[in-house]
Parts: sequence; structure tokens; C-alpha cells
Amino acid sequence: MPELPEVESLRQMLSRSLAGRTFHHAIVKEARLRRSITAELASTIAGRMIERIGRRAKYLLIEVAGDQVMLVHLGMSGSLTHRGHGFDPGRFDPRHDHVEFALDDGSMLVYNDPRRFGLIKIVARADLNNVAELKYIGPEPLGREYSASYLWEATRGRTAAIKNLLMDQRIVAGVGNIYASEILFRACVRPTRRGGKVTRAEIGRIVTATQEVLREAIGSRGTTFRSYRDSRGQPGGFSKLLRVYDREGQPCLECGTAIRAITLGQRSSFYCPRCQK
Ligand SMILES: [Zn+2]
Repeated sequence: MPELPEVESLRQMLSRSLAGRTFHHAIVKEARLRRSITAELASTIAGRMIERIGRRAKYLLIEVAGDQVMLVHLGMSGSLTHRGHGFDPGRFDPRHDHVEFALDDGSMLVYNDPRRFGLIKIVARADLNNVAELKYIGPEPLGREYSASYLWEATRGRTAAIKNLLMDQRIVAGVGNIYASEILFRACVRPTRRGGKVTRAEIGRIVTATQEVLREAIGSRGTTFRSYRDSRGQPGGFSKLLRVYDREGQPCLECGTAIRAITLGQRSSFYCPRCQK
């Protein structure tokens, strides 16, 4: 499932290749995603120039002329690829190419999603912060608002496991299962610890680790676990840099102890029983 680094890498790549281009038209071949794509999509974007590509949490915000924004969420298995000259669509099953956006230079932006949990929706720019999808989302983990004092306040009195709190989108935006495990390993905090019992020093380490892990993952164009592909159809490179995620039974890269796996909040969690207290 794409997390913040994958969406941010995609945003950076699409910004370079799409900004200034104009949508010619859109063909919706399958409207039934997490919610159905409305007829408004094709009529709104036709003939509009792409002004900017932003991101909030795991949502891509494709801003077009006329103060409209196309909100795109990749769900579990979605990809948005820019297919121009030389693009090899071989790894994408054409039956899952649900929306095709034709651009003014003859290239195409294609939304492919085998499991159809994604979302594509048009929102007026002025309403962006109030749409249901974004209204209750917490601060961006790479922004200034996400600080040690913020996370300290947000976790006081909480009995939920710290890993589940890190994955709570109301507390911090865009951190999912893979990165939450990696962040807690770097911060030397066990994922099962009750949020309210995590010390101030540990909270400080978690905030620093969040920023380091996410920045490194963005620099590697994200993590490919199963299906994620970037805008050129390539897998991300961070999988090779994972230290605990999906490494059950393998030696910890710091101390050699076998990495353990447990289920927390119905998700697999990985940790080193020696390094993480
Ligand atoms: Zn260790």
C-alpha cells in the first residue's frame, strides 16, 4: 500500500513531467473505485492546464486552471503513470487501466488499479481543507507543526500502542505500517509500548526518526512492496534499506538478535527485542 514517501516521490516526478501541460480529455473506462468517479471529472478537466501538483497526506492534489483540484488516492494497489514515448506498459494489465487522461503533447496519464480501492475526485480549491478526506488529517510529518512537543501532547494519556498512534492519520499524516515499524526501530522504542508511557526523550527520537526515515524513503523513490510503481512504471528502491519490516527471524543489523514479528491492530509489526525497549 503506498504511503507518504511513495506519494511524495510520485508528486515530484509528475511535477517535473506534467506541470504546464494541458489535459485534452479523459476517458473513464471503469468508474467504480472506492467511490464512483462522477461524470464531472471528464468535463471539468478537459482543456485545463495543470498548474501545480501538490500533496496532502497520501493524496495527490493535481491543481488545474480555474481553481479546481483533482484529488487522487492510490488506495491499496493504484498507480498513476505518465506514458509517453518509450514507456513500456508491459507490467500493467490493460484491464485495470481505469482512467486515461490524454495530454496536449500526445502523452497519457493513466490510472491503473487492480483492487479499485483508490479515489479520484474533483474539488474546488477553496473547499480543499474541508472535504471529508482531508478535514481531520493531522500535521504533515515533514512540516514544522510535527515536533517533539506536539507528539508529546498528542500521546499523553493514551493507552493505545505507540505504533498504532503513529499510524493514526489524525495524529500525523501519511505514516503507514512499513514506515511506523522502521521509525520505531530507529528510535529504539518497542511498537507495543503504550503511547502515554513513552518518555519525552523517546518522543524526541521518534520525531527525528520519522523525518529521517521518510526523507530517505523519498530519496529512494519509495518502497515497493508487491505493487507500487512510480510515474515511469519503476519500483521504488527503499525495500533494500528496510531494517526490520518483513525481516522476521533475520538478524538485527545493529545487534544480531533475531527480529520478531507480532500482530498489532491487525497489522504485522516487526521489532528487535534487544534494541527496542
Ligand atoms: Zn537489535
